[in-house]
Amino acid sequence: MRPLTPVRIPGDGMVVLMGASGSGKSTFAARHFGPTDVLSSDALRGLVAGDESDQSATEDAFELLRLALRMRLARGRLTVVDATNVQRWARRLLLDAARREGRPAIAVVLDLPLALCLERNELRLVHRLPAAAIRRQHRWLVESLPMLAAEGFARVELLRSPDEVERAAVALI
Ligand code: GDP
Ligand code: MG
Repeated sequence: MRPLTPVRIPGDGMVVLMGASGSGKSTFAARHFGPTDVLSSDALRGLVAGDESDQSATEDAFELLRLALRMRLARGRLTVVDATNVQRWARRLLLDAARREGRPAIAVVLDLPLALCLERNELRLVHRLPAAAIRRQHRWLVESLPMLAAEGFARVELLRSPDEVERAAVALI
């Protein structure tokens, strides 16, 4: 049997999940973290607009997300940000919040093949996006990878195949 993939997470830090839609971020978050530890942009769109897919609620959802993130980090609560986070400016806002609160930031990257994200997207009943949007997110993710350490993440945990995701073992440090 192949070994587990250790994913080391500081217990008072911010975990930024990164991945195209369909890469499995929400599934990963639900499997490894408690429900109140996860701030999901989709869930917050649902909270403000009654519809998790309502893109007109995106700005409000992220404003709420950053507010809750700051409050949690101020208390030293582990906080997982479940959003694509493939754009640098979006990560910048999160990293600024963690730095202000003096908490470490970790990136957990679901760097899965584009074809798999597209395939899962087609099978979805909710949150299905146009294929072009997934292609764009995947390209932004790939372009982001070399920059992450310099952006201020204390650690970057890369999960590069469904097998690595399956074998991920989160260890609080
Ligand atoms: P997100 O868009 O990145 O949040 O992805 P989700 O977690 O919502 O997953 C997208 C789809 O892929 C869903 O239908 C999941 O059931 C499926 N999925 C996610 N993770 C896995 C996995 O590890 N294995 C398999 N087989 N399916 C997965
Ligand atoms: Mg999701």
